[in-house]
Amino acid sequence: MTNFIPGPVAPPRRILMGPGPSDIHPRVLLAMAAPTVGHLDPYFLKIMDETQTMLREVFRTQNRMTLAVSGTGSAGMEAVVANLIEPGDKMIVCVNGVFGGRMTDVAGRCGAQVTKLERPFGEIFSSEEIEAAIKQHRPKVLGIVNAETSTGASQPVADIARICHDNNVLIAVDCVTSLGGQPVEVDQWGLDAVYSGTQKCLSCPPGLAPVTFSDRAVAAIDARKTKVQSWYLDMQMVKDYWGSNRAYHHTAPINMNYGLHEALRIVLEEGLEARFVRHQKNHLALKAGLRAMGLEYAVKEGQQLPMLNAVVIPAGVDDAAVRKQLLNEFGIEIGGGLGPMKGKTWRIGIMGAGSSAANVLVFLAALEKCLLDQGLKMIPGAGVGAANIAYRAS
Ligand SMILES: *Cc1c(COP(=O)(O)O)cnc(C)c1O
Repeated sequence: MTNFIPGPVAPPRRILMGPGPSDIHPRVLLAMAAPTVGHLDPYFLKIMDETQTMLREVFRTQNRMTLAVSGTGSAGMEAVVANLIEPGDKMIVCVNGVFGGRMTDVAGRCGAQVTKLERPFGEIFSSEEIEAAIKQHRPKVLGIVNAETSTGASQPVADIARICHDNNVLIAVDCVTSLGGQPVEVDQWGLDAVYSGTQKCLSCPPGLAPVTFSDRAVAAIDARKTKVQSWYLDMQMVKDYWGSNRAYHHTAPINMNYGLHEALRIVLEEGLEARFVRHQKNHLALKAGLRAMGLEYAVKEGQQLPMLNAVVIPAGVDDAAVRKQLLNEFGIEIGGGLGPMKGKTWRIGIMGAGSSAANVLVFLAALEKCLLDQGLKMIPGAGVGAANIAYRAS
């Protein structure tokens, strides 16, 4: 028998500039270290109520069924799809990246008759092609990703939501990466079921999935003839715990909820509009810097996400070596490409608390060193200089 006791948890200091998790606000980590109380303790019930109120603000909705699902963003995806879909229901899923692909998998597992509407990775869908597909297939639900973190493309959904409503189709939207970083207008756009995650632009560790369901979506859930395929994510039961019944369903991850509560307070203290402006400014400065270093964006101008910048890896540059050097020499994590973009793009996240001039400038300087070490020709300082000019102009 060995009696091995490892050392305590002592993670290295990182700057998280990948596709998530992003840098966590220190106030969130502090909140999570507070003493755990019971899941029916009056104090915790107050935290839940306040969290729901703040989530409605951040989602910009009055939806009663607005809460944090226990689990990461993918649990939010499953909660939305599993509750809206009964076996045999038709669902169209728009796939232009990994997360749209994941939604088709989830829908299929829930027994949906899935129609996959595809676009190449990095492109977005037009309202016209979605309208045509809806008219042809007459689905119950249309699923679409607002911010495709795998490609860096920003999909507008307001027009598509209108088309869905005109055709009596429910629209389910993945806002995992967009929430807290760019506008998500649940009520104004008429989105029926929306899910997000805590570790992207909300700057809270992974572990909860904010979700919101419109009255139309709730009516569809109420009208189900079959039980939701997932016991854990059955919103009828989950809402009895978040609502006034307070019926035990599963033990809420108490300290994760403390973290989200603090993260939402920080978002609202800054103000959503100010937060969107900050994400945009840092995106423009990063882009100016990257372009000055000769790097090109993988997504068309006007369709790029501010919080997730996908750039084409320059010819002759070793993808893995650069990411390793960034991590080892500078403590900076960025993401590689996913799916067909593997080895072709880098994904640079400037999300939530991590969306700062400090991170942008340090990253550009660090990347420059890595690329010079790779033998790339460029004028030293060009990236940082261009970013600083962009900051002066903003
Ligand atoms: C991160 C992400 C998810 C999945 O969230 P997990 O927290 O990894 O489960 C889903 N959709 C999008 C767009 C994401 O960026």
